[in-house]
Amino acid sequence: KKITIAIDGFSSTGKSTVAKQLAKALGYVYVDSGAMYRAVTLYAMQHQIISKDSFDVDRLISELDSVKVSFTCNEQLGFAEVYLNGTNVENEIRTLEVSQNVSQVAEVSKVRRMLVNQQQQMGKEKGVVMDGRDIGTVVFPDAELKFFMTASAETRAKRRYKELLERKEEVSYEAVLINVESRDLIDSTREDSPLMKADNAIEIDNSNLSLKAQFETLYDIAQK
Ligand code: C5P
Repeated sequence: KKITIAIDGFSSTGKSTVAKQLAKALGYVYVDSGAMYRAVTLYAMQHQIISKDSFDVDRLISELDSVKVSFTCNEQLGFAEVYLNGTNVENEIRTLEVSQNVSQVAEVSKVRRMLVNQQQQMGKEKGVVMDGRDIGTVVFPDAELKFFMTASAETRAKRRYKELLERKEEVSYEAVLINVESRDLIDSTREDSPLMKADNAIEIDNSNLSLKAQFETLYDIAQK
């Protein structure tokens, strides 16, 4: 019997890596909810609504109707990629610059309402693994299986730093660490749907777990 699996946690805890593996192994659909917040953020950056030192929240809200976020499966990769108004933005949304703006955009209730609605639609049929910050608490409070991933800030920043280098972005480890910590803070203290562990979520600290061990831990639980 297919179920809904929610995976939440702090930034760069390896949620998407394990969520993707889990979805593949179970024959489920994987949805990266963070990619949706990143796509809206990219829109705001492209339209000068948000920048390093300014954010016109009212303008973003007034333009939300023209921000369409969607997913299309990349058959070669075997998972869905995110599109902004019809354009594949899977790479653009992963930059440090987007990461530096996304948590402010994700604080806006109207943005959350729009994306949460869409996420709930995508999860209407069972057989979904979705990762994010509020999946087990707000998007799918009735999910049959919930995980909450944690790891030390340094472990997480190191992983994210390596990832950005592989994408050939010129960033410093310090900037990545600052970003990870600042997103943790904004995400867990915002008024609307703050990041927190759902009461019935299984907490997994993966600081000292290999990717394989992490996958096996989650997969074993999902099989039961
Ligand atoms: O998961 P990812 O790091 O790509 O998420 C980017 C940002 O989007 C998070 O730091 C958070 O601000 C926001 N987010 C959220 N709720 C979710 C998923 C992501 O607020 N369900």
